[in-house]
Amino acid sequence: MTERIDGHTLLISLIATPIRHSLSPTMHNEAFAKLGLDYAYMAFEVGNEELKDAVQGIRALGIRGSNVSMPNKQAIIPYLDELSPAAKLVGAVNTVTNKDGKGHLVGHVTDGTGAMRALEEEGVEVKNQIITMTGAGGAGTAIAIQAALDGAKELRIFNINDQHYKNAEETVKKINENTECKATLTDLSNQAAFKQSISQSSIYIDATGVGMKPLQEESLINDPEVIRPDLVVFDVVYIPKETKLLKFAREHGAKKTINGLGMMLYQGAEAFKHFTGEDMPVDYIKELLF
Ligand code: NAD
Repeated sequence: MTERIDGHTLLISLIATPIRHSLSPTMHNEAFAKLGLDYAYMAFEVGNEELKDAVQGIRALGIRGSNVSMPNKQAIIPYLDELSPAAKLVGAVNTVTNKDGKGHLVGHVTDGTGAMRALEEEGVEVKNQIITMTGAGGAGTAIAIQAALDGAKELRIFNINDQHYKNAEETVKKINENTECKATLTDLSNQAAFKQSISQSSIYIDATGVGMKPLQEESLINDPEVIRPDLVVFDVVYIPKETKLLKFAREHGAKKTINGLGMMLYQGAEAFKHFTGEDMPVDYIKELLF
């Protein structure tokens, strides 16, 4: 790294908190090094309070782009100059570009397309499928909207009655108004409806983060009858690589269990393309990280 960074090196940032566990800095820096691109990627512990100053910092320092994660994905929107059509629809941003360092900041969202590419790579089609989902926060919304745009037949979202429930209602409305997909929202406390929905779905997606610290001992599915040999189970969590949900689904014979590593890789690859104009060497990165 010290041999690589000099006065010309351009910076890409990641602003979120907590963030030290993230694989993104390793992924992007290894990809820059592999392609001989003169960029460096660094994580900064930034929450909502520091966010406005951090965005001004991106402009002032000519930082060429930034990834954005929790809790800033929605909160950053008022500080940006422009949103991509997908970011506007999702109402969240995970990638910001600052073309030529000129200070015009454009927000993009690559979580949804990243998740769809990860599913496609596993041979899982969303087109014409009935999908049950839990979670309607930043990741869940991006996935739901992209799955609808990509031709899912039905999206049945289940969420606990917390501060995200209203957002889930809006997501369902956006999907029903803007796509051919039929979306519904049900309170996750209605366990009978949840189980019945999965029994009619070919894919179950958990976008809640349950299964990751501090909820690593928890799973939203604990009934073996819910798992069928034709059900694909996708969990957006990638630490641990196999959550309690994925272990349970694998042990009870689900067709396929998929963790969040592929989504992480492909949302990163699309962000990398926005930052550098180059394709991330994904096979190389997979060998390093997976
Ligand atoms: P968020 O806080 O915006 O949303 C969390 C969602 O989960 C909300 O809908 C909330 O109501 C629900 N939820 C929270 N606790 C719950 C519980 N105990 N039971 C049921 N539902 C619960 O978070 P987010 O940004 O959407 O992130 C969610 C997860 O996705 C995190 O684990 C994050 O690390 C992961 N993620 C992975 C990738 C990837 O590339 N693999 C990308 C983005 C996020």
